[in-house]
Amino acid sequence: MSGHLAVVGLGPGDERYLTPEASEALAAAQALYGYGPYLERVPVHAGQVRHVSDNREERARAAAALSRAANGARVAVVSGGDPGVFAMAAAVCEEIEAGPDSFRALDIAIIPGITAMLAVAARIGAPLGHDFCALSLSDNLKPWDVIERRLDAAAGAGFVIALYNPVSRARPWQLGKAMQRLQRHLPPATPVVFGRAVGRADENVSVVPLDRAESAPADMATLIIVGSRATRVVERPGRSPLVYTPRAAVEVSA
Ligand code: SAH
Repeated sequence: MSGHLAVVGLGPGDERYLTPEASEALAAAQALYGYGPYLERVPVHAGQVRHVSDNREERARAAAALSRAANGARVAVVSGGDPGVFAMAAAVCEEIEAGPDSFRALDIAIIPGITAMLAVAARIGAPLGHDFCALSLSDNLKPWDVIERRLDAAAGAGFVIALYNPVSRARPWQLGKAMQRLQRHLPPATPVVFGRAVGRADENVSVVPLDRAESAPADMATLIIVGSRATRVVERPGRSPLVYTPRAAVEVSA
């Protein structure tokens, strides 16, 4: 019997953001693998086994899930947001490439989800309306100087930048450093969007100018969108401002 492994995106938190395809894949699984807080969001189905692991154990989790599938089970590995964005789909592919032939014989499905930057952008307007890129600020899997070079290149080239993994207990100084770096390329008033726990009960979205972004509160559940020179803030009476980046390129001098 050949097993099946689905890597399922749960979206940012709100159950309305879980796609019907993801719900079906979760309901059909015999075994679920994932980080505890993500598995807690998955509706319970009788007869399913849950394997909870720490968020740092992605390779081991992927290998365990693949082994179970290679033994003939129908397995789902869950990720918050989209599984292909700084998440489990790449970890599963790494294990498939490095692992035994039985992993490459498996039926694999990657089920997309709404990634955090899209959920945050939708709350505030259209900051990703023109060219943009996404960076993880975590230096667990890449050296800090690579992150700084990429920030320089992205801001210098006029991209709006979505920053995933801005801070954690083990990484307290990286966000401040990144904001200082971005100030070399962008005006002090450049809008920076902080979206925290979007789609959850404690959601909070705010906009601050780049020169004050260093001290704005952020944590592991925060996604930051740094505007480009073209990004605009539209103030509205009695309503929160709209932040957007016009569709047409604006000629800017550095
Ligand atoms: N695969 C996930 C990202 C995993 S990296 C996705 O596609 O969204 C984890 C980072 O995602 C967090 O540090 C934070 O920057 C962001 N994030 C995840 N869920 C979020 C949410 N509900 N609101 C804001 N940011 C979120």
